Amino acid sequence: MTAHLTAPARTLLKEIFGYSEFRGQQAEIITHVVNGGHCLVLMPTGGGKSLCYQLPALLRNGVGIVISPLIALMENQVAVLRERGVRAAYLNSALVPEAAEAVEQKMLAGEYDLVYVAPERLLTARFHALLQRIAISLFAIDEAHCVSQWGHDFRPEYGRLSVLPQQFPQVPRIALTASADARTRADILRCLDLHQARTFISSFDRPNLCYRITARSNGRMQLLNFIRNQHPGEAGIVYCQSRRKVEETAAWLNTNQIPALAYHAGMEAPVRTRHQKKFLQQTGWVMVATSAFGLGIDKPDVRFVAHLDLPKSIESYYQETGRAGRDGLPANAWMVYGPGDIIRLRSQIESATEQRSILVRQAATTRLDALLALCETTMCRRRSLLDYFGEPPASSDESACGNCDACLATVPVQDVTIAAQKALSCAYRTGQCFGTEYLIDILTGKQTDRIRQWGHDRISTFGIGCELSSEGWRIVFRHLLALGYLIAGEDRAGGERIALQLTPAARNLLRGEIRVKLRLSSRHHAPPHRQAHPDLSAPDRCEIR
Ligand code: ADP
Ligand code: ZN
Repeated sequence: MTAHLTAPARTLLKEIFGYSEFRGQQAEIITHVVNGGHCLVLMPTGGGKSLCYQLPALLRNGVGIVISPLIALMENQVAVLRERGVRAAYLNSALVPEAAEAVEQKMLAGEYDLVYVAPERLLTARFHALLQRIAISLFAIDEAHCVSQWGHDFRPEYGRLSVLPQQFPQVPRIALTASADARTRADILRCLDLHQARTFISSFDRPNLCYRITARSNGRMQLLNFIRNQHPGEAGIVYCQSRRKVEETAAWLNTNQIPALAYHAGMEAPVRTRHQKKFLQQTGWVMVATSAFGLGIDKPDVRFVAHLDLPKSIESYYQETGRAGRDGLPANAWMVYGPGDIIRLRSQIESATEQRSILVRQAATTRLDALLALCETTMCRRRSLLDYFGEPPASSDESACGNCDACLATVPVQDVTIAAQKALSCAYRTGQCFGTEYLIDILTGKQTDRIRQWGHDRISTFGIGCELSSEGWRIVFRHLLALGYLIAGEDRAGGERIALQLTPAARNLLRGEIRVKLRLSSRHHAPPHRQAHPDLSAPDRCEIR
């Protein structure tokens, strides 16, 4: 930063925002924008993106226009800015027409430094005419990934922001996002015509977070043990997918002497606010919530974020886990998941994207696969996450972070190709009509009425899987689902809710062309006396044409 710029920027940083230092690339970005440059800023949530446009807006002539998709967030930002003495306002559909008009008048009179607007308003003829008449210091496009159909939060209004470079080419455009894979990034550059602009990418690494992802056996009990053993009396967030599960889990934790609060969008607003306040202001509360909780939450000493269900994407996972350990002290990101999650998320994609383009569906499926790959990997979780965000390793020795379950693992990785082949054979030989539990009963040789009724005690895969416990087999099946060797089809003759079916890729695995490795501990193996067929190492091959 040039000396001439450093002085006023530093003064404002201290006097208005109360910080003594710029963080990461803030100084560089601010200098670039103050000098009239366009840019794309990729910075993780909590990295300090807002300052990158707020400070330049104060230093440049005219009003800074911030495009933001979330009404609650823009109101909150404006309130904080006003408290700091910044002349800020917002324009969105929550304002009555008179109030909106008053804001517009003041804009004309040059009485604002920053105005936050919803994208749909920016595109109206009326607002457009207003913008033509005033001095604009910059356009900040927050949550810029919303321009992309490939992104996880596509908003059609954002796609029309291409009017900005066309109509106001000279006004600096600063696009900001916390998550953008290569394809989304390309869409942002195209839509906002930022090809010539600089891109600032901050590290997405959160070294103080320890990532752990495990198979769900009894989710609640696993959670309780985790909190009791690792976080007694500490603040944490537990994410669940449904409102009902949020309430049940919070109640259950309370009966187990873990002080817990519930939070979801279906609750009355005053209750929600009360719970949020308690969590933020007091110590030691566990907040059990849906993904509705967390936007704009900036509590430094959240010691853990737990997921009882898989979130919908790596972006959500990263954002939600990112709420832990903001103070830089050690914190845990803990998650359990099972085949049910995979089935739920796949069917959500099917139903949510039925009406939409193939691209949207393809994008959603790709994102889910990436999330499952993160769960199923036997490699470093942190490296997998950073790979997803396109962040290259800092040095050649970056494959192990030393602070995730994979890097800390004491459980060795095992080749389970034969077990995987047995599982696939079993699904195939029973007509691909059955779900995981039934197939496990066959593999482990259980003489249930149902198995006898179907005559499945007489097929060649009956009882050939005695080397693994039922839980061990669950892991194998989950892995096969996650890696796409099996898919969960609809009900068929078996009358099951889900019927596991083989995909074309399964053939390569059955032929032994692909090997499968998993982390299995001793408890996933059956005790020796149960291993009725110790010599049965040869897989039961099945021929699929
Ligand atoms: P983002 O939009 O990237 O999620 P914010 O702009 O909301 O992040 O900033 C996250 C937190 O970091 C806020 O509490 C903010 O006040 C704080 N912050 C930002 N810049 C600095 C800085 N230079 N020094 C100290 N704290 C900062
Ligand atoms: Zn690691």
